[in-house]
Amino acid sequence: LSEHDAIEDHLITVCVRKRPLNKREATRKEVDVITIPSKNQLIVHEPKNKVDLTKYLENQLFRFDYAFDESCSNEMVYRYTAQPLIKTIFEGGFATCFAYGQTGSGKTHTMGGDFNVVSASFFEIYSGKVFDLLNNKAKLRILEDGKQQVQVVGLTEIVVTNTDDVLKLIQKGNQARTSGQTFANSNSSRSHAVFQIFLRSNNNMTKIHGKFSLIDLAGNERGMEGAEINKSLLALKECIRALGRKGAHLPFRVSKLTQVLRDSFVGSNSRTCMIAMISPGVNSCEHSLNTLRYADRVKEL
Ligand code: ADP
Ligand code: MG
Repeated sequence: LSEHDAIEDHLITVCVRKRPLNKREATRKEVDVITIPSKNQLIVHEPKNKVDLTKYLENQLFRFDYAFDESCSNEMVYRYTAQPLIKTIFEGGFATCFAYGQTGSGKTHTMGGDFNVVSASFFEIYSGKVFDLLNNKAKLRILEDGKQQVQVVGLTEIVVTNTDDVLKLIQKGNQARTSGQTFANSNSSRSHAVFQIFLRSNNNMTKIHGKFSLIDLAGNERGMEGAEINKSLLALKECIRALGRKGAHLPFRVSKLTQVLRDSFVGSNSRTCMIAMISPGVNSCEHSLNTLRYADRVKEL
């Protein structure tokens, strides 16, 4: 990958990132079934026979704007995904970056990358309810006015002056997500975390100039409690696909996630990036294929 390769002009960028086998997978001698043969291709070697893991089906090839292998650092991924979006918010636009994939595939790890701007908020959507991750998980209300402007009422917004401030807020919020659970079965893998950075101009602080949203999505594996998550992920896919298509009816109200991100999809200067996260182990193969098919359908038509 060279500096010139960063995509700046696409409305939607879809990338895939494979993490390394973790210790547990390595100890179990799990077979790595994902290869990244080039900077925009990924191959899944699906087992032919689940009993004999040495036999494989023909390879399934997927193409994306970028494919990052296990040797890629967060910095590298950031440079090709989130960083090109920064320009958009300085130009008064909206930029959004999603981390998509199975629980444990690297979404939270990837969203820890760094950047530099002005004020930030961090909230979580769990089971259709919104909680402030920078204020003891206070429950927040969503208000939509007649002009379909959506507001998260009372959301804590903290001024940031450097990258370190931003990283600290992300850490603080991520800690709030995983500890001090206020309801039964709360689990960060079943919530969407929305970290937003706002740019405002000095002469009108009430007006948002640009906004950057980093979204750590709920795990996409299907489970008993998956209905709400699936609903929001399906609505998200439709909303992203419709980016830039005029007059399309979009299912924003179907989920809280798409409702709060509405302005980031409908703006004339909006950019979106999705990074699909892949666990390499053979036991994750089916989840990986689900993830890749979803990401495949998000790509520009
Ligand atoms: P998710 O948020 O998708 O559930 P995490 O980001 O928590 O997954 O990742 C699970 C574990 O794998 C964490 O311990 C994380 O540090 C590690 N991990 C994820 N991606 C990578 C990577 N690209 N390189 C090294 N470790 C990774
Ligand atoms: Mg996570």
